[in-house]
Amino acid sequence: TETSPLLKVRALNAWYGEGHALQGIDLDVRAGETVTLLGRNGVGKTTALRTIMGIIRSRTGSIEFDGRDMMRVPLHRTAHAGIGYVPEERGIFATLTVYENLNLTPVVARGGMSLDEIYTLFPNLKERRNSAGTKLSGGEQQMLAIARILRTGARLLLLDEPTEGLAPVIVQRIGEVLVTLKQRGMTILLVEQNFRFASKVADRFYVVDHGQVIDHFAVEQLPDRMSMLNEALGV
Ligand code: ATP
Repeated sequence: TETSPLLKVRALNAWYGEGHALQGIDLDVRAGETVTLLGRNGVGKTTALRTIMGIIRSRTGSIEFDGRDMMRVPLHRTAHAGIGYVPEERGIFATLTVYENLNLTPVVARGGMSLDEIYTLFPNLKERRNSAGTKLSGGEQQMLAIARILRTGARLLLLDEPTEGLAPVIVQRIGEVLVTLKQRGMTILLVEQNFRFASKVADRFYVVDHGQVIDHFAVEQLPDRMSMLNEALGV
C-alpha cells in the first residue's frame, strides 16, 4: 500500500561468529526518502547495510522490501528484487575502463538507466569513458560505483560512506547527484560520517550505537538534536 514503507526492517540481529553486531534494529525507509544512519566507527552501520543486502546470512528478524520477505531471498536474487549496494570500497573493476565497467553491469531489474542517462547525470564519466578504473580520481571512482548500480535498475540504493576521503568540491558534487536521484524518485539508505553532507541530503536520520538504534528523527528536528548528536557522535 501507499502508506507502508518500501523497506521495513524489524528486530534485525546479525552476527560475525560470536560477535553480536546488530542487536535488534528497527527502521523504515519510505519510497522516495533518503534516510541516513549516523554513528561512530564500529557501531554496526556497515553491518546493517550488508545484512539488508543479504551478504550477512547469520541474521534474525525481518526485512521487507516492497512487500517482499527478503529474509527468504538468496543473495544472488537481492539485486533482482531491486536493491543496489555500493560498498565503502566501491567495488569497481580497476583494470577495466569506465565504459566497460558500465556495460559489464547486468540490468537485473526493470528501469535500469541507459548509458546516455548515466552520462547525462555524470558528465565527467562520459569524458573519462575510456580511462581505466585505476586512473580515476577517488571522486570519479565513487561516481562510477554509484553509476554501475544505477544501471542495474535498483529502486533502493544502499550507499556506504560515499564521501569518504573526498575533497569538499567532490562531496558537493555527489550531494548534487543524490538530490537529482531523489527528484527522480530514488529511495536511498545512506551511511555517512560527514554530518554536514548528510544533513543536506537526508529526510530522516537513525542514530546507531552498539548495534542498536538509539534515536531517530526528521531533518526538521535536527536543531533540537544537536547537543545529543555532539555527545553521541562527537560532531
Ligand atoms: P565503520 O564506519 O568503521 O565501518 P560501522 O558502524 O559501519 O563502522 P561495522 O563495520 O558494521 O561498523 O562493524 C560493527 C561491529 O562488527 C564492529 O565491532 C566490528 O569490529 C565488527 N565487524 C565488522 N566486520 C566484521 C567481520 N568481518 N568479522 C568480525 N567482526 C566484524
